[in-house]
Amino acid sequence: MASAGLGGVTEPIVFDIPEAARATALRAVDRGLCDECFGRLFGRLGHGLTNPERARRLTDALGHAPLGENLECPVCGGLFARLPNWVDRAVRSAEGFEWHRFTCGSRWDPERLAREESLWIEFGTEWGESARSAFNRELGKKMETASGAAGVTDRPDVVFLADLSVGRVELTILPVYFHGRYRKLDRTLPQTRWPCRRCRGRGCTTCNGTGKTYPTSVEEIIAAPFLAVTGAEGTCFHGMGREDIDARMLGRGRPFVLELLRPRHRSVDLAQMATDLARDAAGRVEVLDLRPSDAAEVVRVKEAGPEKSYRVGVVGEVPVAKVNEALELALRQAIAQRTPKRVAHRRADRVRTRRVVAARVVEATEGRFTLDIRTEAGTYVKEWVEGDDGRTVPSLTSLTGVPLKVEFLDVLEIHDTEV
Ligand SMILES: [Zn+2]
Ligand SMILES: [Zn+2]
Repeated sequence: MASAGLGGVTEPIVFDIPEAARATALRAVDRGLCDECFGRLFGRLGHGLTNPERARRLTDALGHAPLGENLECPVCGGLFARLPNWVDRAVRSAEGFEWHRFTCGSRWDPERLAREESLWIEFGTEWGESARSAFNRELGKKMETASGAAGVTDRPDVVFLADLSVGRVELTILPVYFHGRYRKLDRTLPQTRWPCRRCRGRGCTTCNGTGKTYPTSVEEIIAAPFLAVTGAEGTCFHGMGREDIDARMLGRGRPFVLELLRPRHRSVDLAQMATDLARDAAGRVEVLDLRPSDAAEVVRVKEAGPEKSYRVGVVGEVPVAKVNEALELALRQAIAQRTPKRVAHRRADRVRTRRVVAARVVEATEGRFTLDIRTEAGTYVKEWVEGDDGRTVPSLTSLTGVPLKVEFLDVLEIHDTEV
């Protein structure tokens, strides 16, 4: 009978027992199984019932006494009766961490799986559900009630793995991600932490024991207040490409995702963070457009190949008319660019084809001029100007016939979205 409470009538659950299932139930009911394991043999019948509820309907239909929990159950050995202990263990393992979304699973010992398998061999799998999936689901439901967090399959904050053979819960804390754009106004700052070449980060006399070639970086400046607020154990900085240390990054800045490893707190007041960053970065770095992000965006940021605009200061004895002529030629042909000498030690030596999409002289004085240029992703701009001893063809040097030297270079814009 469906219950009729004061609030209304509950939808009755249809539970038709096929004749063959009734016969199986009759054979299985006196095997000492707990209500969970007995009901699970018929898990695909009676949608909306828990396995113990299903067991109760079956024993009623058979005129048999209810089975109830059983710590001596020959299949689960009381595993399902002990679910509250597993919930306690899981919740305790994550004490001190903030989590709102979780996934839980379990690792099963072979003996336990073999006991279930012998049950299936004897009674068939026509209506049954596996113990592991039932355990994971019931653990998830009870965890939701106990913690107020949501059981999810996508982007959890934490993952609990109940290891049944050792009676322990393994906890994995997933990183938390934030997206932003940085402007770099300092020509002495690398993008990421740069380990000392001599000691490889251990600390030596060359680096004054810091293990670093440069005292700080864009990554370290941005990460510091996030580390303080989240209590994370470390960071990974994912930039959409990088600029040279001595190049400024202007315009709307360069997109990045900051990944914080094993954070204790995930809720970050980003407006407050922007204020703290502005104070701590002291004008060397500016951070714009902070927002929450995820692992998928890391891939998107790393794989993007946007066009970029630069301002380049050039030194060379060449009339502006000749520069303009050379630029016109340059826009009409592809550049064959061999891996520059200065990066050859860490990149494979090969020839890339690139294009300068737009270029114009914005300023010219005696012996110097300033260019604004827009190029395809991956163009080495300094080499395109100077020629890199014939490794970039054509170059502005080869097109003007005058040896040119880059005096400064700034990134004006990353065109990942249209400006
Ligand atoms: Zn059982
Ligand atoms: Zn060192």
